[in-house]
Amino acid sequence: MSRRYDHARVQEYWQQAWERDEVFECPTDAADPTYVLGMFPYTSGSLHMGHIRNYAITDAYARYRRMGGDDVLHPMGWDAFGLPAENAAYERDTDPESWTRTCIDQMKDDLREMGFGYDWSREITTCDPEYYQWNQWLFTQFYDEGLVDYGAATVNWCPDCETVLADAQVETSPEADEGETTAGTGHSHTHGGGVCWRCGTGVEQRDLDQWFFAITDYAEELYHGLDDLEGWPDGVRDSQRNWIGRQEGARVSFTVGHDDHDTVEAFTTRLDTVYGATYLALSPGHDLARALADEDDAVAEYVESVASTDDAGMSGVETDRTATHPYTGAELPVYVAAYVLDDVGTGAVMGVPAHNEQDHAFAAEHDLPVEQAVEPVDGSGTDLPHAPYTGDGMLTDSGEYDGLASSAARERLREHEAAESAVTYRLRDWLISRQRYWGTPIPIVHCDDCGHVPVPEDDLPVELPDYVQTTGNPLDAAEEWKQTTCPDCGADAVRETDTMDTFVDSSWYFLRYLSPHFEDAPFDQETADEWLPVDVYVGGEEHAVLHLLYIRFFTRALSDIGLLDREEPVDRLINQGTVLHSGEKMSKSKGNDIAPHEYGAETTRLFVLSAAHPSQDFEWTVKDVSTAYDFQQTLYRLVAEYADRTETRTESTDHDAYLEREIDRTIAAVTEEYDRFRFHRVIGEIQRFARLLGRYAGYDRPYQFAYGRGLRVLAGLVAPIAPFLAEEMWQLLDEDGLVAESRWPEPLRDVDDYRIERQVVRQTLDDVREITEVVDIEAPNEIELVVAADWKYRAYEIARESDPDDAIVGEIMADEDIKQHGDTAADFADRLADRGAGLEPIIDGERELDTLQQAAWLFEDEFDCDVVVRRAAPDDDLAAKARPNKPAIHIS
Ligand SMILES: [Zn+2]
Ligand SMILES: [Zn+2]
Repeated sequence: MSRRYDHARVQEYWQQAWERDEVFECPTDAADPTYVLGMFPYTSGSLHMGHIRNYAITDAYARYRRMGGDDVLHPMGWDAFGLPAENAAYERDTDPESWTRTCIDQMKDDLREMGFGYDWSREITTCDPEYYQWNQWLFTQFYDEGLVDYGAATVNWCPDCETVLADAQVETSPEADEGETTAGTGHSHTHGGGVCWRCGTGVEQRDLDQWFFAITDYAEELYHGLDDLEGWPDGVRDSQRNWIGRQEGARVSFTVGHDDHDTVEAFTTRLDTVYGATYLALSPGHDLARALADEDDAVAEYVESVASTDDAGMSGVETDRTATHPYTGAELPVYVAAYVLDDVGTGAVMGVPAHNEQDHAFAAEHDLPVEQAVEPVDGSGTDLPHAPYTGDGMLTDSGEYDGLASSAARERLREHEAAESAVTYRLRDWLISRQRYWGTPIPIVHCDDCGHVPVPEDDLPVELPDYVQTTGNPLDAAEEWKQTTCPDCGADAVRETDTMDTFVDSSWYFLRYLSPHFEDAPFDQETADEWLPVDVYVGGEEHAVLHLLYIRFFTRALSDIGLLDREEPVDRLINQGTVLHSGEKMSKSKGNDIAPHEYGAETTRLFVLSAAHPSQDFEWTVKDVSTAYDFQQTLYRLVAEYADRTETRTESTDHDAYLEREIDRTIAAVTEEYDRFRFHRVIGEIQRFARLLGRYAGYDRPYQFAYGRGLRVLAGLVAPIAPFLAEEMWQLLDEDGLVAESRWPEPLRDVDDYRIERQVVRQTLDDVREITEVVDIEAPNEIELVVAADWKYRAYEIARESDPDDAIVGEIMADEDIKQHGDTAADFADRLADRGAGLEPIIDGERELDTLQQAAWLFEDEFDCDVVVRRAAPDDDLAAKARPNKPAIHIS
């Protein structure tokens, strides 16, 4: 029989066996199955290492839970729409659909080869009309609920991709690192220097009519809901908080102008600095700024000039208006300034140069006064007027508010009639329009008389027309497709030619898996209410603010519409770390990527799980890969040799008990680590266990019952991580059925204290090693291990259970049995009292004796001598040295 395991030779056989037995299919009548989900892949052509890591995590956990007796839902599908497919099709002179289907075939093969077990009966593909019709259906539902807006918007435009980009798809260019800044007062941030996330081209601003989802209606809910997401990494929750950008503050009304009718509301989080306001600034898009532009050429010129640049810096233009400071009555100059953004706060800012970085920079540029209103309370100075002081402090030069602390002042100043509490958000509505072909057509018809009319449910889906190659939007060029009739009045009308952002597709795909063939709605609500939330969702950290916010928004919106019972979609979220190579993230463009097949599929899979905790980054090294390879061979050889061997014992001896106990302890440890997603520790445990099995088999003829069980357990424990290998082992062991469908191994005896037992053996072995080294004993005759007398355990437990301020020595010595040991007992009690709260749990003397007796062969094997393990006798020299779980050691 071959002693070498070859994954490539067996993988097809086992994949077919799993499929034949429908191992991974989740029954539709399952009661609340465990829902394990990896973010579905974008169909780019082949799997990369990030995918492998992501899916190795979900597959290991899904298999583990399935063997534990759960019904498990572990589906897979394809995020198949999107611009890259259009580009790839263009480069290869094909069409996006053909390209995408080819990619799917390839990636599906890759997933099978890796041994990932998915319920393929629930496969979804977002570019199928059967899927995207529900995007359209959901769009019309949202439309009816007032969650869809249409309007002109200044949008980020990539001239190269010829499409609109969401804010989050605009990346900071490496050259212009200042990027977007949110000042301490939070009333302004600046665009500038952004590049397209996909192609790196500089992003321009354009005004276009666009479709939006009103995610801002949910800003407050989405923000506060984060508090309850305890199964999510703090980093993701913080990113979402930041992205939503909730700020509490105040709106302050300034009267502007010749006639007292115009008021401008400025939002600030720093109302305590209001006495330091020396000017008012309006964004170029502010209503009043637009009105002023009509009557003032200088303003008009300025507004026009900043519209075509995204780097207006601290430029601005003074208007001929003044604003009346509501607290002081002072007249302040009014500017139009590009650093004030239209869509943040109210689009107007009270300029406080003394206490805000940007206002200070603006004031310096325009020679405006700097007036201090807050001073530090700790007596430290400020650099005013040269630099702003942006901290809280005590109010000064603030009239009746002088001497108040900033926080108290913010409350008091709000009582003024010109101010009111206000909350603003940085979150913007979700722009879903894309001027591209390969996406879901937005189901709207434009009629001259009726306006925008949603396509009626019966006419869905609006399918994509055949692809034609154009430089602009292919839907716009599909004349025949575009012409239709108005669903309301029957007149000639045209279809909307924008398609949806592909993030719409992925905002609810986890719901479609629940009832993938349901025909009346995107999902069957009854199933969804029972099966949600997703128990474990695994994917990359880069999705913290888009996808992971959108699924929360969709779930809440669906809940409000009455289509779902639940407000949050995911219970536990895991962001897998990055696989690095030469210190950098693997990527094709950097040329440091490694194809998953290069080192063998299962080896790669095993390696990515063994290298680190799922959330940590790790470095790809050939050495560690070969360790993973060797590990598989070791496991395989153990089982293959056993299968060949006839020489086993049927009578047990002392040292077999150690193996039997260690089997239990290993099951307990591995189970704990699977529950905590610490697969690297699972593998560490299995490696240790395999070494023990090898050593045990080499020490003596193995005891049939214990050794056979050990190998079966070995196969079971490794099955979620190396599934093909485990099936091969299972078969060599002559076990029935598939290991993937076997029951998770269970300890035969109580394992509550398994860590302590292990610690006693490990520590005692270490101690013996140290003694033989220090005393330089080369060949000991005998090792004697003496387990302490019972009264010491009782004393230990009394000390452990006592309160820190109890008189511990007194309590111990009150025990008659202990007391009779006189000074020895008193000394021991003193030592225990000193350690007080630091006393770890222990096993009792009998268990300690058992544990060490079982392990005696390890000492015998390592030190090649006799080993005696016994309890302390009354007049024993060694007894005095023995302490609970720390036997006295005598080496002769
Ligand atoms: Zn681009
Ligand atoms: Zn009409």
